[in-house]
Amino acid sequence: MSEGTAKKEERPKFQAIRGTRDLLPPETSLWNHVEQTAHEMFATYGFGEIRPPIFESTDLFARAVGGETDIVSKEMYTFEPKLEFLREHFRSIDDAMHNESSLLRVLQLVAVFSGSLTRALILKQTVDNRETVQLSDELEHHVSVSIARWNRGEHEPDQKWREWLSRAEQILWSIDLGVRESLRPEGTAGVCRAYIEHNMNQLPQPVKLYYVGPMFRRERPQKGRYRQFYQIGAEVLGGSEAPAIDAEVIEMVMTFFARLGLEGVELDINCIGDKKCRPKYVELLRAELRKVKDKLGADSQRRIETNPLRMLDSKLENEQKLIEGLPHIADHLCDECAENYRGVKKELELRGVKYRENWRLVRGLDYYSRTTFEITAKGLGSQNAVCGGGRYDGLMELLGGPPTRATGFAIGEDRLILSLQEAGKTPAAQGRDVYIAWMGEKAYATAIHAAKNLHAAGLSVELPPVEQKFGKALGQADKLGARYALILGDNELASGEWTLKTLASGEQAKFKEADLLDLLRKSKAVSS
Ligand code: ATP
Ligand code: MG
Repeated sequence: MSEGTAKKEERPKFQAIRGTRDLLPPETSLWNHVEQTAHEMFATYGFGEIRPPIFESTDLFARAVGGETDIVSKEMYTFEPKLEFLREHFRSIDDAMHNESSLLRVLQLVAVFSGSLTRALILKQTVDNRETVQLSDELEHHVSVSIARWNRGEHEPDQKWREWLSRAEQILWSIDLGVRESLRPEGTAGVCRAYIEHNMNQLPQPVKLYYVGPMFRRERPQKGRYRQFYQIGAEVLGGSEAPAIDAEVIEMVMTFFARLGLEGVELDINCIGDKKCRPKYVELLRAELRKVKDKLGADSQRRIETNPLRMLDSKLENEQKLIEGLPHIADHLCDECAENYRGVKKELELRGVKYRENWRLVRGLDYYSRTTFEITAKGLGSQNAVCGGGRYDGLMELLGGPPTRATGFAIGEDRLILSLQEAGKTPAAQGRDVYIAWMGEKAYATAIHAAKNLHAAGLSVELPPVEQKFGKALGQADKLGARYALILGDNELASGEWTLKTLASGEQAKFKEADLLDLLRKSKAVSS
């Protein structure tokens, strides 16, 4: 049976994995427009593009994002080192021995283990030394001998396999398995790692970098929340703690959104203090929360001890009233932080950026300090945050770099696009400028030549690959939404005057090649 005649139920059916999706034309032209605008605008603010890899060591994210966060503890796509599964096998053998499983069961597990080790060696997944190869051969041999003896009723079979197993154990635990790697759940960690790795602190400071690309988080997919999503982010690394730096970054995002025509944009800002003043506020918060512990859910009760700041984030209906009564950080900032916060607000006003103060806007991690902000937009339901950002002066040191001040943001590009689409900013389906209807071999050669010139002039051209009657060709041109049909047949070739039909009006006129090109070029300039 050929593939084509396979029964319906036998045909494989592949679908994009849950939480991922295909971005298709014409929507992709909106994505390109958004990204192009970012490239152009960010450059005018002195930002250069960085393209870090989309996977890094898991430890990097654990440090930068925080091991306690949902992102790191539950949502990362992590690859185990190649040999990790062998260690897993080993643990199950160990368990079986300690649980006094039957010797046959243990032998079976050892057989599976030695088979896997051999396969790993064949696939060159493991350190290819002579010792390991010999070990895997001998182990397979001895364990199969023992199983055969067991099956013949010898219940105390040859014990040589035990010797080989313990050698396998030694080797497995002495070799370097390599690091665990994860798909990036966010962009800042990689950018900071690159700043340190390439000694960018030796460049004129601050270094301004931005990135565009996919991020991966295994969270529950819903509108505006995907497992592969896209961010446009920027970081200002090094330099001073001047409020102007935070304000300029915020101004840049707001200008970007305005240029795209994003609607209902609202900016929330807050100051969360620094190493000096925040710990005292956190203690105060904890003390207040302990007083009302009984009224809180289990998650919140735990947060009182681990990270009381995160309580301010709570969306739970029944906790809102209680949270409103908690002390505000603004009343507990040290003089320097209070001064800095005033500065940021003044700088935003100077730049004509409208903001709303939101004392509950926090970032739960220690390395964040002072300014935090979030931007929401219309048409997104409960997933309405399109950008989050703030200052993270402590991160670079945490990653082993020199003390480096830093501030930045990440825009959720999917949500940005969704909001633009909800507001009706959908691009038109991509039509063609010119459809070339040709008939005859000679006309075809001329058509190819004409298409080349039109492409060079930036026009989109459809050149049918096989000859078709003019009537059919014009119908096709209509379907594709072409603006013009260029008609090339015997008459046109003989007279040297080409026919151009304007499809919307049906008008038709003849032109010399050069005049026609000129006209089309001009029509393109007007339409774009
Ligand atoms: P949220 O509270 O909406 O989950 P977050 O605090 O996890 O957002 P950040 O890590 O600050 O978000 O990321 C910045 C932006 O990236 C968010 O404001 C949002 O627009 C976008 N974003 C985050 N997670 C997703 C996702 N799973 N799918 C689509 N966009 C996302
Ligand atoms: Mg989230």
